[in-house]
Amino acid sequence: MPATTARNPFHGTVLISGASIAGPALAYWLHRFGFDVTVVERADAVRSGGYPIDVRGTAIDVVERMGLLSQLKAAHIDSRKLTFVDAAGATIGVIRPEALTGGVSGRDIELPRGALTSLLHELTRDTAIHYRFNDSIDVLEDDGAGINVRFKGGAQGRFDIVVGADGLHSKTRALAFGPEQQFNRYLGRCFNLFSLPNYAGLSHEGVTYAEPGRMAGVYAVGDSDTLHGFLTFAADEPPFLSHPDIDAQRRRTAKVFAGDGWEVPRLVEAMLRSDDLYFDTVSQIHMPRWSAGRVVLVGDAAYAPSFLSGQGSSLALVGAYVLAGELATHAVPTEAFASYERIIRPFIEANQALATRGGGLLLPRTPEELDARNRAFTAARSSGEAELRGETSRLVHSSLQLPDYAGGAVNP
Ligand SMILES: Cc1cc2nc3c(=O)[nH]c(=O)nc-3n(C[C@H](O)[C@H](O)[C@H](O)COP(=O)(O)OP(=O)(O)OC[C@H]3O[C@@H](n4cnc5c(N)ncnc54)[C@H](O)[C@@H]3O)c2cc1C
Repeated sequence: MPATTARNPFHGTVLISGASIAGPALAYWLHRFGFDVTVVERADAVRSGGYPIDVRGTAIDVVERMGLLSQLKAAHIDSRKLTFVDAAGATIGVIRPEALTGGVSGRDIELPRGALTSLLHELTRDTAIHYRFNDSIDVLEDDGAGINVRFKGGAQGRFDIVVGADGLHSKTRALAFGPEQQFNRYLGRCFNLFSLPNYAGLSHEGVTYAEPGRMAGVYAVGDSDTLHGFLTFAADEPPFLSHPDIDAQRRRTAKVFAGDGWEVPRLVEAMLRSDDLYFDTVSQIHMPRWSAGRVVLVGDAAYAPSFLSGQGSSLALVGAYVLAGELATHAVPTEAFASYERIIRPFIEANQALATRGGGLLLPRTPEELDARNRAFTAARSSGEAELRGETSRLVHSSLQLPDYAGGAVNP
């Protein structure tokens, strides 16, 4: 870290809800800046494993400043190709993943979500940061001078600030801002994610098949003998907002994909039997403000961009860094929140916009969109190189110049 230049007079107590990406990253920076930090997580441990995520652009600078870059690089999955097939399994197109995502080969990192959350937790667990697993916030009472919190487990506490880093369906957001429906922008798609055996010996690659409004695929992380399977489909109305009837959803998905070609029957079977099925709507969170009184939101809770943007983890890391830095350089929390918002909102909105721009490529909803996508892949194949939407995305991923808060650091 560069040398110290500024100190914050306010080094209060902060409660963070959620220990995935935004929560531990924020805890790390707040602890460095001298805050007294508690993290409460609903699960009984940091969840390992999971689907691959990306750390790109400005977020690379954040992990570099955290001293994590070499460990993230060591965990890089190095996916080499995405193959698009038709109902008979014949290849329509093959592209480098970066051509679609805008990742910068040799700099940006793709790693299992659990690898990132474990690294963040390891970085913070032997510090004075207090982790409270298997618990969550039940009641928040902001009296203007602080927040009284009652936890589900029965304990109570008082904090200067509460931060919601508890994801797309954030409870903190519901407590401080009201029901999710007002902020959840449904992007017209639902997805199922599950694991299945690597039946085809795939390595460092993904294979997908689409019909109008439906896409099925598998993704091989490195040489793993397990694949990530996904079944995504378009639906005008979201089937639910937060608490799905998972068996009804399995049946619904099976019905949507009935009669489809390629390996779809195998995927549907695996989805029906899966014990790790993850079903959700493809949604973004849009809020007019990310703070209310002494409560503030970070990461997916405030501005989920959806997996169609591939930027959720990067926005969580950048948001955590800037929020902590602004708290370290303002004496009044509400002024810090306003400044946090002013600095990153344009970056957040530009990244959220990537999701809707590329939707037709990732999940064509109509026969015309599917034809256009297939033509793009065929052209890419004959020219030997594709730049499907990568260039625009690349610029957006790096469009924020990080402020330097090194001056506020009091802990190593
Ligand atoms: C299928 C899929 C694919 C994705 N692909 C990518 C990708 O390629 N690239 C990318 O960058 N991003 C991707 N994302 C998005 C990425 O996973 C998220 O944007 C990112 O994890 C956001 O981090 P977060 O810390 O804000 O929230 P989350 O990771 O959602 O974490 C929220 C945490 O809060 C906890 N929690 C929830 N409720 C409570 C509560 N009431 N009390 C206490 N704790 C609670 C949860 O257990 C969890 O630990 C993908 C997401 C999905 C679902």
